[in-house]
Amino acid sequence: MSVEATVRLYIFDADGTLRRTTVEGLPCPNRPGEWELIPGVRERLAEIDWGRARFGVASNQGGVGLGYLSLAAARGLLEEMVVEAFGVTEPPPGSVEICPHAPHLGCPCRKPQPLMLQRLMRRFGAEPHETLFVGDMDKDEGAARAAGTRFMWAHEFFRRSA
Ligand SMILES: [Mg+2]
Repeated sequence: MSVEATVRLYIFDADGTLRRTTVEGLPCPNRPGEWELIPGVRERLAEIDWGRARFGVASNQGGVGLGYLSLAAARGLLEEMVVEAFGVTEPPPGSVEICPHAPHLGCPCRKPQPLMLQRLMRRFGAEPHETLFVGDMDKDEGAARAAGTRFMWAHEFFRRSA
């Protein structure tokens, strides 16, 4: 049986996992037109039976706290990404978790802290062992460990060549 057969909640990091910027040197997009889905994301997500599993996104958006973009803009960009990636008309309510705090503030939600993952699990009624978090950074793996969820690297989940 594949690992994924027992997953009831998939949580994805955004930048470097589902989307990438189209502006050189920009770590994450600040406005529309500055990002695209990473090739293969949509096709891989379409393989999942969304009738028996839910999904969420957990994204550190430190640029909000640093003044690069508003929280509404960050949310809008992530919601647009969800629509494109999952082929839905709009993101399921509560599926996008954002930490808007500047990195130096030591908030309880910025990954590798587990709060965003815990909120999504609570909201969608999933236990940690039924939850798979997919991300591309050490802080993603740390958040999964702290929340007790399973973890997969984005390049493994999306079968990207390293
Ligand atoms: Mg990332």
